[in-house]
Amino acid sequence: MKLAIASTAIEAILAHSAAAAPNEACGLLLGAPGTVERAEPAANVAAHPERSFEIDPAALLRWHREARGAGLAVIGHYHSHPNGLARPSATDAARAVVDGAVWVIAAAVGSQEPPPRPSPLSASRGGREQKASPQSEHERGDGEQSSPSPHGEPLRTESGEGRGGGSSGSHTLTAWTMTATGFTPVDLS
Ligand SMILES: [Zn+2]
Repeated sequence: MKLAIASTAIEAILAHSAAAAPNEACGLLLGAPGTVERAEPAANVAAHPERSFEIDPAALLRWHREARGAGLAVIGHYHSHPNGLARPSATDAARAVVDGAVWVIAAAVGSQEPPPRPSPLSASRGGREQKASPQSEHERGDGEQSSPSPHGEPLRTESGEGRGGGSSGSHTLTAWTMTATGFTPVDLS
């Protein structure tokens, strides 16, 4: 399966994801099968928006109506993973249904990488930092990941492909759809 996303929709998703951090952004994808024409932000009304999302039901109704009026359909939705997980989380998998909807996930770039300078030798503060061990820093930021993947698929690390590590706020997009065997990747073209 392939999905074409209009560049304006991509920009809208990226901008919304950056603005919503550290909470998850979410919104609706309008278009036709295989094509996203528009991405429309919606409020995340989840009780814990920093680690899950729930699209505002009023927005859902509104965009279904607006899509029809524009000759489009709501073909899916997007949400962001501030923790950088570049695939659906266990939480996502638990609530997804096999309905053909497209899931676009915007994963924060670099947030799963170890901190850039784990140097106890930078003793500018008199050695007080020695307790900041790499292990303790590793434990941050895996909110949604805490339960193991039900699919047992390997974690896709899309970092390290040279996208300027320092640019906080940037995201990479992946797309998925739920099938009888679980979330299946959708090629973005
Ligand atoms: Zn998610």
